[in-house]
Amino acid sequence: MAQWSQGVQSLNFEQLNLSKRVLDAVRDTGYTTPTPIQEQAIPVALEGRDLMGLAQTGTGKTAAFMLPILERLLTGPLGPVRALIVAPTRELAEQIYETAVEFGKYTKIRSVAIYGGVNKNPQVKKLNRGAEIVVACPGRLLDHVRDGSIDISKVEVLVLDEADTMCDMGFLPDIRRILNLVQNRKQTMFFAATMSDDIRYLSRDMLDDPATVQIGIIAPAKTVSHALFPVMEALKKQLLMEILDHTATGRVMVFTRTKHRARRLAGDLENKKYRVAALQGNMAQNKRQQSINGFRNGKYDILVATDVASRGIDVTDVSHVINFDMPNTVDAYIHRIGRTGRAENTGEAFTFMLPEDMTLVRRIEDVLGEQIERRRQPDFAYGNFNPDVYTPRGGTKSRRRGSGRTQRQAPPPAPKQQVTRSRYGRQAQQEPDGASTPRSESRPAVKSTQPRPNNGNSPNGPRRRRPRRRRNPTPATNAAD
Ligand code: AMP
Repeated sequence: MAQWSQGVQSLNFEQLNLSKRVLDAVRDTGYTTPTPIQEQAIPVALEGRDLMGLAQTGTGKTAAFMLPILERLLTGPLGPVRALIVAPTRELAEQIYETAVEFGKYTKIRSVAIYGGVNKNPQVKKLNRGAEIVVACPGRLLDHVRDGSIDISKVEVLVLDEADTMCDMGFLPDIRRILNLVQNRKQTMFFAATMSDDIRYLSRDMLDDPATVQIGIIAPAKTVSHALFPVMEALKKQLLMEILDHTATGRVMVFTRTKHRARRLAGDLENKKYRVAALQGNMAQNKRQQSINGFRNGKYDILVATDVASRGIDVTDVSHVINFDMPNTVDAYIHRIGRTGRAENTGEAFTFMLPEDMTLVRRIEDVLGEQIERRRQPDFAYGNFNPDVYTPRGGTKSRRRGSGRTQRQAPPPAPKQQVTRSRYGRQAQQEPDGASTPRSESRPAVKSTQPRPNNGNSPNGPRRRRPRRRRNPTPATNAAD
């Protein structure tokens, strides 16, 4: 069990005014010291105040809202749904539900998780038996409301977890509907990694004099170190295998931009005898759960996932996050790398970088407040591709391993080569998996006036016909996983 550094006031759980039944369950989990978000949010939430919690993933925010909820529910009637927690994905809902069960095990409080992709009936049965806590994804929750299988009119406390993600995924109208359905609530808590405009307006409308608790907002966990691997599309898979074979990796999460790429990459790695599972939105819920469980219990070393499918997944000892494809936004980068360095373990975040990724790289570097190390995999055959074309902005010290030299002020890194787009690249545009930011924001088309270098000696093999650029690319859909 990871030990968290002492929070602001160095409280322990005994000092948080939790009742014995809840405290005993906390002790059973092995938690000794509250995390900073817990230390700050729990006292406020216990007072019954509305709360805006700004905390990145992996900071312990689930317990920060769950413990006060359990305290509230210890008194009052059993039977009606009194606490509603809304989360963006099934996996996160399932995880929050498990936390509710774990911390509520010495109480009579019952919890139910409701999300899409699985049969409604078992959920209806559980709801009929009575549950005081419901953890739900927005779409399925509204389905149950429409069917009349859930009554949320008696909800006293409402939590929106990863509220920013839900807005990114296009759930804002559903969220507003839900908020309006629980008009009698006494307490509302929002948790988000970043304060987007949507969240700001929503909290202005829906929170009553909230206390704001902000922990490590924006900057990703300090326990994660970052490295960029300049590479061309066609070499990504080989580079990945090279890294997997020659780096002391433990549990590795690999992120791709689309469901198709995740499925295909996992299949390719499996063929090469890696212990790998995929996690993407086209998989049936039981298959997704099998992948997560297998990854957690060590059956698989590698999980190849898309952003949406992996939101909120809690596996504490992920040693490496590898961004096989650059995420679409800075937020997505922060979410992804939040899978490693959790609970104060250390972790490494590797990102494969194409020339067109430079704009986003700069934004990430702005957020991190430092330049990310450009790393070159030793002994990797890059063919005629020179990874050094991706010059970092400004004349800062190169942190390439074994380099130690200082680079001169460099112009913006106009790529010398137009990387031939593989079939992957084209399919990526057709099958966004939950990406909601217009692609143009982070992936500006790179126009090169340079002659294309692929003369047959390229590792891409003979020159391929350039795929036709779509004039009006379909905006990324809100693939609600
Ligand atoms: P969360 O941000 O709620 O997903 O939590 C991230 C991870 O931190 C989970 O594995 C939790 O079990 C763990 N965790 C949460 N609170 C504590 C704590 N006070 N002490 C140790 N680990 C914790």
